[in-house]
Amino acid sequence: MYFSCVLFVFSQHINYFCRLLAYMRHSIKNILTAMERTILIIYTGGTIGMVNDPDTNTLVPFDFENITKNVPELRRFDFGVHSISFDPIIDSSTINPHIWIRLGKLIEENYDRYDGFLILHGTDTMAYTASALSFMLQNLQKPVILTGSQLPLGTIRTDGKENLLTALEIAAAQHDNKALVPEVCIYFQDMLFRGNRTIKFNAENFRAFRSDNYPPLAEVGIHIKYNHPCIQSSTQGLFSVAKRMECGIALLKIFPGITPQIVDAILNAQGVKAVVLETYGSGNAPTDKWFLDALKEAVDRGVIIVNVTQCLSGSVEMWRYETGIHMIDAGVISGYDMTTEAAITKLMYLLGNCSSLDEVKTNLTCSLKGEMTV
Ligand code: ASP
Repeated sequence: MYFSCVLFVFSQHINYFCRLLAYMRHSIKNILTAMERTILIIYTGGTIGMVNDPDTNTLVPFDFENITKNVPELRRFDFGVHSISFDPIIDSSTINPHIWIRLGKLIEENYDRYDGFLILHGTDTMAYTASALSFMLQNLQKPVILTGSQLPLGTIRTDGKENLLTALEIAAAQHDNKALVPEVCIYFQDMLFRGNRTIKFNAENFRAFRSDNYPPLAEVGIHIKYNHPCIQSSTQGLFSVAKRMECGIALLKIFPGITPQIVDAILNAQGVKAVVLETYGSGNAPTDKWFLDALKEAVDRGVIIVNVTQCLSGSVEMWRYETGIHMIDAGVISGYDMTTEAAITKLMYLLGNCSSLDEVKTNLTCSLKGEMTV
């Protein structure tokens, strides 16, 4: 009896010990996998790293040291964080397609070395950069997250710290060794949005971005709740970066009282290859003969005209009203529910990389990177 009791207690201990070992092995494996992950921060500039210039009393870009100094938490992640900085760093209102190509090249050069990328960027043109990169980065299988802030990191009430830390966590998030969000996204104020669906709508609030025509990819509270069905799955194939962007794009926003001279000046501007036409409501515009003739004449000359709505939410439906039908007849292409930012950068990308006008037009009618709902 005594002997079987001892045997029982002993076997219980062995059992417990084996489970402990298995648990430790599992935890160590998790820690090692996490430690193997490394995220690259690319600091381009923007308010997040700015300081007040006492001479002019304006915010001016400051160097990256400013960021790491103000966020010691960066060292507490269970994954590695490396960083590189633009030199000089820029206010994002000076961004242009050459800088997007530079960003694309930086990601390409570092693609195999890192598990995800975080781009610190000014908020003013963040939606343009995110849209442009979404088209330029081909076969992306890793997260490229853009964030910034409304108040510099060094200020007491800064929104930059939470934006930076959570965006990093999202950039490093994996399941079964695969990135959870293999897309170009914007993270801002507890929301993760698809980059090419996002617009900056508020110059004052911490909630500065929105995505009206596509649900958030994640919402952040105590937990980061990923909206898995809305996240694009990573495409197969070799990662590459399209490095040509055509700059001959014009933006024509119509308004009551717009004159033939203004419309003509834009449609006939030297070097214009495509025009994003911002129309009313579901894609409506004046039916004046001079206006429709001007559009048709431009289309006949080979200028591509894409119709997007001035509304923040909803889609162009040109067949819905008579005014829209006239534009279809003139050869205007529907931009459906694309943002202006996505429409401009999609045209830049297509005109820079397609071999014919027909190829551009065909690609305009379909969603390339989840930028529109057809
Ligand atoms: N002007 C700044 C920029 O876009 C504004 C910001 O970062 O919020 O670079």
